[in-house]
Amino acid sequence: MNEQELTPHFEELKRVLKDKVDDERIMNELKKYVNEFHVTPQAAIRGILRKFGALEESPFRSSSSLVKKIGELTGSEASVDLLVRAIFVEKKDITVKGSPKTIISGLIGDETGTASFTVWEGKNVEMEKGSVYWLRSAYAKMWNEKVQINIGARGGVEKAEGMRVDVPDRSISMESSEAKIGEIAGGMGNVTVTGRIISAEERNVTVKGEPKTVYSGMIADDTGKIQYSAWNDFGLKEGETVRIKNAYIRSWKGIPQLNMGDRCEVSRVDDTFGNDIADTVNTKKIGDIVRTGGGLDINVVGTVVDMRRGSGLIERCPECNRSIINGECQAHGRVEPVMDLRMKLTLDDGTGAISAIINRELTERLTGVTLGMAEGLAKARGSMEPVERELAKTMLIRRLSLTGNVMSDDYGPMMIVRAAEVVKEDVTAEAEKLLSEVEASL
Ligand SMILES: [Zn+2]
Repeated sequence: MNEQELTPHFEELKRVLKDKVDDERIMNELKKYVNEFHVTPQAAIRGILRKFGALEESPFRSSSSLVKKIGELTGSEASVDLLVRAIFVEKKDITVKGSPKTIISGLIGDETGTASFTVWEGKNVEMEKGSVYWLRSAYAKMWNEKVQINIGARGGVEKAEGMRVDVPDRSISMESSEAKIGEIAGGMGNVTVTGRIISAEERNVTVKGEPKTVYSGMIADDTGKIQYSAWNDFGLKEGETVRIKNAYIRSWKGIPQLNMGDRCEVSRVDDTFGNDIADTVNTKKIGDIVRTGGGLDINVVGTVVDMRRGSGLIERCPECNRSIINGECQAHGRVEPVMDLRMKLTLDDGTGAISAIINRELTERLTGVTLGMAEGLAKARGSMEPVERELAKTMLIRRLSLTGNVMSDDYGPMMIVRAAEVVKEDVTAEAEKLLSEVEASL
């Protein structure tokens, strides 16, 4: 598992260990347990807590967990118990680096409001909509000014037999607001969108031993595009324009997706988009991406303000392609490394900053430094560092236009760049613009 995949587990540990152990140590311990000892994340968390003497102080399902209502949550709760009714539940099998993992997500509510939730270790958890549950030792986070509830390896879900929770209808229907696709962000809950189907496909999958069909594809309006998926066949066809009511937004690594659940309604509508459909790439302000979390085929234009560690000449494991150090792979031990060239840049456009991972081909094209040249330079100097410096020299303070998919985690948005070009600055125009701004302010 890489750092991004370990992040939810790291967050769990950090909540308990933050005063005792520094972040880097926690992450290193977690990596060691999961990637070297090959234990499950839950076992790793218990092992690490025990190692630092924190297991006794914060037992699993601590009786000291506060009981709160959804409306009382501030988004900073580290351990809280909630009695809730499940409004929408989706169990999803995902694959993380070849190993299966099951998460449960959806919407829960009580008398005071609704919130989206995720059970991160959902394999042995059963939840169904309409039923009432105790969520034990949950933690809450704020996302887009909304509270999100998480149940990690230390938390639990218990069916609350005989308990009754009323969720005002008003608070549910209020969740489904009309949204432009380009403005959709993770944690928005339910939305209604109008767009044109630009691709549609069917896939057969197996869920709990039962064959099922997933209907998925891409839908776009004049502001952006988003992936959709449904278990029910809404008969969506490429080229038609539809209004999708009560779809549920879920983010996968920061990329929002439209889930069409049982409450979803589809109607065919007249196409008003014409040629304005955002079938192609959207240029966005980085500040907006920071807010929405991510998306597909996004273009940003900004200035390279930093080249981060891990740029330049790197070694990769020939088995798993992970970047490795000194020929030692965390999963495969000592290997004959394959050399590669890449850049991790920080791009800033004045509204925010984004990390950008740039592959060998684009690095060579942007900098004029080829992998062969980089290897030659490293050999001549007896170190790989001069390569990084050489790349940094050509890239820093350059203006770039970058296109790719943007994911995000706790460290912010990150683009996997698939197209990049240097933006030629029109110095005269820039100067004139600046001058007119100065004059306007006088
Ligand atoms: Zn490997």
